Amino acid sequence: MTRPTQIRIDVAALRANYLFARGLHGGRALAVIKADAYGHGAVACAQALSAVVDGFAVAFLDEARTLREAGVRNPILVLEGAFNASEIKLAQQLDLWLVVHHDEQIRLLQESPAQARFNVWLKIDTGMSRAGFKSSDATGAHERLLSSGKVGSITLMTHFARADEPGVPMTVQQIDLFDKATASLPGERSLSNSAGLLTTPAARRDWGRPGLMLYGATTHGAEVPELQPVMSFESSVFATRTLEPGESLGYGATFVASRRTRVGLVCAGYADGYPQTAPNGTPVAVDGQTTALIGRVSMDMLTVDLTDLPDADIGSSVELWGRNISVGAVARASARSPYELLCAVRRAPRVYLNTENSEDHCEILSWPRVRTG
Ligand SMILES: *Cc1c(COP(=O)(O)O)cnc(C)c1O
Repeated sequence: MTRPTQIRIDVAALRANYLFARGLHGGRALAVIKADAYGHGAVACAQALSAVVDGFAVAFLDEARTLREAGVRNPILVLEGAFNASEIKLAQQLDLWLVVHHDEQIRLLQESPAQARFNVWLKIDTGMSRAGFKSSDATGAHERLLSSGKVGSITLMTHFARADEPGVPMTVQQIDLFDKATASLPGERSLSNSAGLLTTPAARRDWGRPGLMLYGATTHGAEVPELQPVMSFESSVFATRTLEPGESLGYGATFVASRRTRVGLVCAGYADGYPQTAPNGTPVAVDGQTTALIGRVSMDMLTVDLTDLPDADIGSSVELWGRNISVGAVARASARSPYELLCAVRRAPRVYLNTENSEDHCEILSWPRVRTG
């Protein structure tokens, strides 16, 4: 028997969220599963989606290779593209789609001895000012790519900077700039990340690129009832104690009891990826009821307030986030983003639920590697 801390991943919820995202967007959608599927396990998530998905997107070629080695046959787009000639070669061998966002990557394609014609996604910068060709160079970059003789099809894409802030005009300005810069170019279009897809109908084109929303989380503030949380970060109370008024709790004595306070000890901490910045009062569910984190989060332990939950005791279930407590709520309280929290989860074993569409089917498919030493 190991400690009761687990990361439960509901792949039926993942599938439902993907189908909702694609339905809302219309057309097709790449499921973005970079960063180990935002902490959910890229291989298991890809396997769970492979029968319904139009394709996947990852950041780096290594991530795509891991998926291919696990037998994933769907299209895979590499969002940062190839970094050198050997990655171009690998992309050909692994049959990957490549984003091209700067001239060096066009040069790599030109110089590639590969006979293959790549499916390339040409990234146009419309305001992010990070990766992508300047909009004034969109036609030029398209021309240089075509004349390389190494491309089969070119999909035109851009990425939004502020789509999670509905009403901010920047997203519409980015769409306008993209449409103007690409007006004369053929090919399919892809504009929307999750926030764009949820907030801005004008951004829905041939391909959506939902990431965060697949995992049931959002950043634009609005609740989207159709989205189901996929990850539950769960543990249980393994000890209790009572503080008298005036007694303090934990490192830094950041919590001081103002009344007799019953404390539950939970065997999960920031080494599992729970944010150390979570302050007193951060919501946590014990036996399905919302209560509060109290005291500073330790490496391997955290403490919760059981004073108003007289039935809670050793063995009571604890949900740090999941169906009762949204990861967004914990992120807001901790001054973090849900992206960061989900990607940071580690050490505790992941348990996959509903892998065969059956309610009680439960299978451990992957144990995240634990770094030691
Ligand atoms: C990460 C990423 C996405 C997905 O973004 P979410 O906000 O998680 O939906 C889409 N497109 C690109 C280019 C990305 O890098």
